[in-house]
Amino acid sequence: MNIQHAQPILRLIQELTKLPGIGEKTAFRLAMHILRSSKEDAEGLARSILQVKEKIRLCSQCFNLTEQNPCRICQDLRRNAEIICVVSGPEDLIALEKSGSYRGHYHVLHGVLSPLEGIGPKDLRLSELLSRLQEGKIKEVILATNPSVEGEATAQYLAQIINPLNIRVTRIARGVPMGGDLQYIDEATLSKSLENRSPL
Ligand SMILES: [Zn+2]
Repeated sequence: MNIQHAQPILRLIQELTKLPGIGEKTAFRLAMHILRSSKEDAEGLARSILQVKEKIRLCSQCFNLTEQNPCRICQDLRRNAEIICVVSGPEDLIALEKSGSYRGHYHVLHGVLSPLEGIGPKDLRLSELLSRLQEGKIKEVILATNPSVEGEATAQYLAQIINPLNIRVTRIARGVPMGGDLQYIDEATLSKSLENRSPL
């Protein structure tokens, strides 16, 4: 890194490079942008970063990111509480919500099984999902993990555990391309793949 930078600029660049997808060049550009912006804008940015850390927590039921607990979706009585859609991350939940075709509840795993990266069942919100299912109110679980190798393996693993509980287990249809990422799939395709889900 360029040692000609003043210490505070250097520090900002170092912090920015910790963000995903931000290399040193981009970090420098962002740092320059922040330097040139008004004090109010810079404070707004700093405050909003602190606020997400202070105010956002995980919903104790579905583990979605929320400001209130339980989250708005879990509290919504108009939604079908007998169906749970299992997703790997909050970004997938948002994608499904945007598709507007799903009116049930969710469960966010916060990851997928990945032996290569050392992510096993204990690293995901799996036991919490099982506790929800054991309450006996759930009639269907839709497995909406990404159609990647890890996402498929996670869906298969979940199906094996859930099937003996006499709960219908379905997998979103293959309108979703193999290796694709739910959050980047258009709403119509996502909506169709939910509609055409199949038992697993
Ligand atoms: Zn919730």
